[in-house]
Amino acid sequence: MRCTSGRAETFLRDAALPRILLPRCARIKPLRDTPARWNSGTPALKIICFQDDAIYTIKAAVTFSGGTNPTLNKTTSLTVNSLWNPDGFVDRTIARIGGVPTMASDEPNGTGTWRVTGKGTLTRVVPTSATINVIPTSQFYNKTVQHEQTHVQQWIAGAGHLLGDLYVVNDFYNQIVNLTGTSQSDLLNKLGTALTAYVNSQGAIVQSRHNQGEHEAYAVSDPIAPQYVYQNCGQF
Ligand SMILES: [Zn+2]
Repeated sequence: MRCTSGRAETFLRDAALPRILLPRCARIKPLRDTPARWNSGTPALKIICFQDDAIYTIKAAVTFSGGTNPTLNKTTSLTVNSLWNPDGFVDRTIARIGGVPTMASDEPNGTGTWRVTGKGTLTRVVPTSATINVIPTSQFYNKTVQHEQTHVQQWIAGAGHLLGDLYVVNDFYNQIVNLTGTSQSDLLNKLGTALTAYVNSQGAIVQSRHNQGEHEAYAVSDPIAPQYVYQNCGQF
């Protein structure tokens, strides 16, 4: 008895299909008209988003030249995890006010009251790039890049950008311009306290806009093929 033909059908038709050991005459034959359903949970039935493991059904048939039951049919499953988690990110923790304002004492020798005299080197520091974990050859790469780029653009200063009104030098300066200290170090301590309070307040606003930010980013990336992974799916 020898193997004369073989056939395996699977719902998976991606190049990432792992090698499956079959008799030498058997070949993997993906179902052509079945759309790829990466990490979609239950293929062909229902889309479940953000499931780490996607389970695909594999049906194999191997035919032998003799015997009472010359064709062997087997069904098994293949579990694939194609998720990068996270697929990419924009590090919002770098957002801050950098630099120091100019300060001066009322007395030239520094013994007088210390005041803030100007904006000095105060600058708005926000994310300007994204980290992409998905490899460039992945089918999910462009989708991820476009999503994260939307988050980067949200940080651009000014109207029309979700976070463009945060970490603004003028806003922080208005909060410190009237601070005074009995010495430069006393004033610096007060500036440090004010900076912490300001940055915390801005961070809380960033957090409060998280869902809106994701909603915007998924609106950009969701239409980009392939579907069924990294989709909003009503989350935001
Ligand atoms: Zn996002």
